[in-house]
Amino acid sequence: MVNGCIFCKIAREGSRKKIYENDNFFSVSDISPAVKGHSLVISKKHFETVLDLPSTLGQELLDCIKQTTFKLMAEEKADGFNIANNSFRCAGQIVDHVHFHIFPRKKDDRMILDIRKK
Ligand code: AMP
Ligand code: ZN
Repeated sequence: MVNGCIFCKIAREGSRKKIYENDNFFSVSDISPAVKGHSLVISKKHFETVLDLPSTLGQELLDCIKQTTFKLMAEEKADGFNIANNSFRCAGQIVDHVHFHIFPRKKDDRMILDIRKK
């Protein structure tokens, strides 16, 4: 637990509705969704970026991403999805506790996730 870290706080809160969880990861809805169903897969322990995550947690991470995405796809009747991770400021990371964004996608949802060079 890192003092002042909002995701460490959520990890310890019983009240916050979790979409899915296993021993080392959980998922919740993003507080400021870019698209309906936008959710976050978050590690229970504090790691800053993907580079700090022990590789032994890879299977549990994928489990949490997949189970969360299956639920969101069904709930939102989505046609597809994007998964994104921002690491360090220049790549857009605001919360310094590793997390993965899941965006359920629908045709014509008007969301822009641009990875092309300008
Ligand atoms: P990032 O730029 O990848 O660090 O994104 C951080 C994300 O966390 C943003 O999409 C925020 O809307 C989201 N966020 C910040 N605080 C909370 C919170 N208390 N509960 C849920 N999502 C949050
Ligand atoms: Zn933290």
